[in-house]
Amino acid sequence: MVRKKEKKRETMTEKERLMKEKIERREADWIPKTELGRKVRNGEINSIQEAIDSKLPLLEPRITDLLLPDLQEKVIEFKKTAKVRRAGRQFSFRGSVLIGDGKEFVGMGTAKDKEKWPAIKKATNKAKLSLVRVRKGCGSWECTCGMPHSIPFQVKGKCASVRITLKPAPKGVGLVAGDNIKQVLEFVGIKDVWSETRGSTATKLNFVRATIDALSKTTGMKASEEMMKKARA
Ligand SMILES: [Zn+2]
Repeated sequence: MVRKKEKKRETMTEKERLMKEKIERREADWIPKTELGRKVRNGEINSIQEAIDSKLPLLEPRITDLLLPDLQEKVIEFKKTAKVRRAGRQFSFRGSVLIGDGKEFVGMGTAKDKEKWPAIKKATNKAKLSLVRVRKGCGSWECTCGMPHSIPFQVKGKCASVRITLKPAPKGVGLVAGDNIKQVLEFVGIKDVWSETRGSTATKLNFVRATIDALSKTTGMKASEEMMKKARA
């Protein structure tokens, strides 16, 4: 993953590099716009658990950055799309980014932009606002180690026509799943799982979404969604 990131940096054009710097500079002097943002910035809230307990909505990606500093990012899909207009073809980019802290949070975002880098940046920010909390466990009756290497019980997830079932597996089995599912499981540090899927494999992103949906059922809570719901209530 790290290698991939470096490669990306090498192939970045001068224009993209400048744009990236501009975005990073703007984010360095972050002025929080929400109450949760202010509390995180001034040190009143120091962990994601405190943020969830506060029942305040998570609406700023910077909050996720500060509370989950070990967050990893991966561009899982990147496409150039074209729209035919009277003036000719108009290109834009669509990026999808998966994020995870390797322990208990995972998220995915998709976004479009006329430029490459902003499309990825927007997708990353969306992912940071759609965190799902995952509970790991040792749910297989064949395993009694009690360590959080798998999931605590069987869960199902769906997205469009895709259906996924994740089952707890004993230690050493590994991730018995397709690559699209595997990368999500790896991003929360799950090591052993059996899976069953249905649906067209051409819809890669739907597999990722269905996996996240299934994992969200280990806690019955989509962390950030839950926080927004509570805030509205
Ligand atoms: Zn076990």
